Amino acid sequence: MNIGIVGLGLIGGSLGLDLLAANQDSKQDSEINSQQNNYVWGLSRNPETCKQGEAIAAVNIADTDIENIPDRILAQTDLVVICTPIAAILPTLTAIAPKLPSHVIFTDVGSVKAAIVEPASTICSEFGQRFIGSHPMAGTAFQGILAAERNLFQNRPCVVTPSEDLEALEKVRSLWQSVGMRVFECSPAEHDRAVAMISHAPVMISASLIAACQQENDVKVLNLAQTLASSGFRDTSRVGGGNPELGRLMAEYNQSAVLRSLYAYRQTLQKVINLIEDQQWDQLEDFLAKTQRDRPFYVPE
Ligand code: NAP
Repeated sequence: MNIGIVGLGLIGGSLGLDLLAANQDSKQDSEINSQQNNYVWGLSRNPETCKQGEAIAAVNIADTDIENIPDRILAQTDLVVICTPIAAILPTLTAIAPKLPSHVIFTDVGSVKAAIVEPASTICSEFGQRFIGSHPMAGTAFQGILAAERNLFQNRPCVVTPSEDLEALEKVRSLWQSVGMRVFECSPAEHDRAVAMISHAPVMISASLIAACQQENDVKVLNLAQTLASSGFRDTSRVGGGNPELGRLMAEYNQSAVLRSLYAYRQTLQKVINLIEDQQWDQLEDFLAKTQRDRPFYVPE
């Protein structure tokens, strides 16, 4: 497939690395792998990012202006994946859709779906193009092209949004499967409620934990806590220490679902506080035993 990646950062760069690495693998193993090679062009805002994308082999060519990508490459593009921050997805689509042929299928990687899928589909339909929403559930605490890494998506879940256009849906599914993802289909609204619970609210909760620790005003105790923090605090603080712009956009574009999850969390935390204040140790242990039993539903051992 010929693929365009717009927004060469952690997600866009990592996708390009895997797509181009698959070409190398298929060359080395040409007898058993007859899959066509991917050609990947990139578009990003910063010229330095475009150069770095080419240098690390995340893209074959990249530019800041779609006008500088050769016409014959644009004409043969099958799929364009928009990997910019959430707020730039629709403006980016509006800017580039008119420059691409009508057979192109667009997808995105935004962490919210309801605010994107319908308007994006409307923009694409103006040019006879199709749009399928995606959310590859993979990431690290880092950002930018130099944070891109191979196999980021391996064995991780990916959401695609439903469409009556089964051919377009299948192309987007196979893109994510080709980089090792397990693909699930769900509506934008269901996606947004589910990821608010397991991704967006946890960012706010984890960030609040870090901020609460920093409120300690006994400097000796604060320094000691920072020295003693180990694997437990590494796990519980990881998502609170990630990309601040991404966290803001999750809350801004998925406000009602994020609030719903945070209100449920606040209510549960208040119950835990009450149990501790009232010295209800057996009930507290029962509560923790239940969460111990329930965790594997989310994170299988
Ligand atoms: P990132 O590392 O900051 O990458 C985004 C890249 O987009 C930046 O490097 C920037 O490149 C480029 N960019 C910014 N504005 C642009 C614009 N207007 N036009 C073209 N390029 C632009 O962020 P990311 O983590 O990859 O996130 C990208 C998308 O993936 C977001 O929509 C996010 O919701 C989604 N996502 C993130 C994660 C995660 O955990 N990080 C997981 C799943 C999905 P320049 O250097 O050229 O400015």
